[in-house]
Amino acid sequence: MGQLMRAEKLIKKMLNRTELQGVILDWDETITDRDSLDLIFRIAFRVKPEFPYKLNHFVGIYKDRFRDYVDHEVKGSECEARDTVKKEIQYQRGMKPVELSSVYEARRLGLFKGISREKFVNYEQTLGQNSDQLLPLKPGVVEFLKMLYRKVPITILSVNWTSLMMKQRLKEFGFEEDKEWLHFLVNELVFDEHGMSTGNNTGEEEDIRTGYDKMMKTRQIVKDCPNGKHFVYFGDSSTDVLAMIETGKAVALGTGARDQLKRMGFKVEGPEEEKNMHDLSEEAAYIFAKDFTIVAS
Ligand SMILES: [Mg+2]
Repeated sequence: MGQLMRAEKLIKKMLNRTELQGVILDWDETITDRDSLDLIFRIAFRVKPEFPYKLNHFVGIYKDRFRDYVDHEVKGSECEARDTVKKEIQYQRGMKPVELSSVYEARRLGLFKGISREKFVNYEQTLGQNSDQLLPLKPGVVEFLKMLYRKVPITILSVNWTSLMMKQRLKEFGFEEDKEWLHFLVNELVFDEHGMSTGNNTGEEEDIRTGYDKMMKTRQIVKDCPNGKHFVYFGDSSTDVLAMIETGKAVALGTGARDQLKRMGFKVEGPEEEKNMHDLSEEAAYIFAKDFTIVAS
């Protein structure tokens, strides 16, 4: 229990508001308790029950392309070990065509074309389930966001395909999108003047698909901040680690992020790290926590 309090103290120090310029958070499995990329598909299939392809088609395209990438570009290459930042950058950059394979397939087949914006915004109604079932949140995250909302700029940085459900979910707790305080950097569906999806996605050079893209977006956020460089990044997976290294201070809310940081030689501390319990450093830059209760208490 003492170590838990100590990790809590360290995170609080990291979030010291007099120095803090902003927090950047991943969405899926960081703010939410489960990956929610399938929601956009479920909405499309609900609106178009006659659509000839199901989710497994798009997952299959992705998996094939990923296997191809690993077999032909990663195995035996310099980046295979992913044990330095340079190698991880190379690995993540190579993931871009993999991530885009299913995006392009959805566009090619017109999966989202002609679906109204409202179907995504009112996702509970479209899918006939409530938001707690569809987008369960990590324990403590609402309290954590309340602590910072309109005091520190919050950016949601996600490789998800739309922010529409995220914005709707956060609105339930009074968190409204706002250029200054709550900003979403997420790929978006494009809608026409009647609010119907064109089936396309927002600009390709702007899109956020890989850990490398997240790193570049994070670099821009830090660069655009005139008052200093103290940002804290929250993420769960290996897609988040390059962005974590970019801010230099981060909370890993999943073993994927934790293990990738460790593989690259970074020290990750926290209450779950029993081996390190006795030497939690006052200067800890990367902390592992299973949810936000440790920060929001
Ligand atoms: Mg995630």
